[in-house]
Amino acid sequence: MDYFPIFVNLQDQHCLVVGAGDIAARKIDLLLRAGAQLTVLAPEISASVLDLQQRQPEKLQIQRRIFSAQDLPGHTLVVSATAHDAVNRQVAAAARALNIPVNVVDSRELCSFIFPAIIDRSPVIAAVSTGGAAPVLTRLLRAKLESVIHPRYGNLASLAGKFRSRIKQQIRHPGQRRIFWEQILQGRIAEQVFSGNQESAEQMLEQALQEKNTRPAQGEVYLIGAGPGDPDLLTFRALRLMQQADVIVHDRLVSAEILDLARRDAERIYVGKQRQNHSLPQESINMLLARLAKAGKRVARVKGGDPFIFGRGGEEMETLMEQGIHFQVVPGITAASGCAAYAGIPLTHRDYAQSCTFVTGHLKDGSINLDWKQLAAPNQTIVIYMGLIGLGSICQSLIANGSPADLPAALIQQGTTSKQRIVTGTLGTLPDIVEKQKINPPTLIIIGRVVELRQRLAWFDTDGNTPETITQPA
Ligand code: SAH
Repeated sequence: MDYFPIFVNLQDQHCLVVGAGDIAARKIDLLLRAGAQLTVLAPEISASVLDLQQRQPEKLQIQRRIFSAQDLPGHTLVVSATAHDAVNRQVAAAARALNIPVNVVDSRELCSFIFPAIIDRSPVIAAVSTGGAAPVLTRLLRAKLESVIHPRYGNLASLAGKFRSRIKQQIRHPGQRRIFWEQILQGRIAEQVFSGNQESAEQMLEQALQEKNTRPAQGEVYLIGAGPGDPDLLTFRALRLMQQADVIVHDRLVSAEILDLARRDAERIYVGKQRQNHSLPQESINMLLARLAKAGKRVARVKGGDPFIFGRGGEEMETLMEQGIHFQVVPGITAASGCAAYAGIPLTHRDYAQSCTFVTGHLKDGSINLDWKQLAAPNQTIVIYMGLIGLGSICQSLIANGSPADLPAALIQQGTTSKQRIVTGTLGTLPDIVEKQKINPPTLIIIGRVVELRQRLAWFDTDGNTPETITQPA
């Protein structure tokens, strides 16, 4: 760290600003906001500084003259913002001699402290600095933080401050207290504060505290869709809940990169499923989730893609519902959307496909039970999940029911990840082409004329070269 960030209490502290131009005015404004008692020293005073003085005459004293080293003693902090290099140097040297922290605007080498970019949601304050290396980057970062730190965060912090000691007294166990606070600070009560209903937030907090005293803490379950693979496709909510969960229950489709984003000290339980090799039967998973929540844990049940698309999320939720356990569902980007986007294959297109159907190609008793007549109709896209093993049979059935053998089809391996690979062909050729490749799961199949668009729209490149594609037209 080139600089050490600290927050200094400037309430009623005497601070000196040398210079009174527009740049000085900005620093004066900041120091006034922090409650400082200011002296501004300069032969000429700009209109913006005079304006600040008119608004807070008791806090800001102006002296129209040039700086001398005798002005320094008794000041907690000094800022030099003059246009004269010699004056700035003189201020810096004199302040350093007296060990008074000094900032010289735009001269990092003369500063003993620098101003960060400030996001002020008092009492919440965030400060960002690139140590003077990249002011534009600092500004961009600040803009980002402004957008994620809700304008009423300060009100939320004030509410928390008001209840802090009472909650500490009433919920003695530190772990339970943390859970309670996390629920308050990001649940319904926080939402009330954010929408300006401070009073009702306070009532709800009061009530939550009373209930807490009479009921043993019960955990909850977050059924989270983690998207198709690329961690960048997680939703904000998925990330937030993964970072607060005590236990992460995950399966094979959730990548290590995504699990890395979960809370460091969270317990991780693998309940993965592979074809023919269910490592934990679904009923056991349902019961496991209920049991963990009843033990007071916040459980993140993290699934690939979207939990309600071929994800058996519904069954898990039914069990929780029956047992009266709180849960929420976080949608994720399903493999069809993710793979199609990263493969440059729009699932619908004005000219080629007016509808799109997601089906499972999972074999039951050796055959696939789908409405082939309907799927073979023209002007649509079919996306097949879990279809690798059944690919040959799927293509045959479609052709037998009237689909043209030269209808384009693609198989996408490990879509959206750095290992994405795409094999394209037609209903007639794809099974043979795939047969000759070494394919790694998971794979998704897209059938329809939209696949042709990939020739023009492919954009995602896993290794900086042309996207890896094996194509053999009919
Ligand atoms: N709930 C998940 C689907 C679970 S079923 C979702 O919404 O995406 C598992 C199947 O999803 C896999 O067999 C495969 O067909 C598909 N799949 C999931 N992730 C994939 C990926 N990154 N690339 C290709 N197919 C994927």
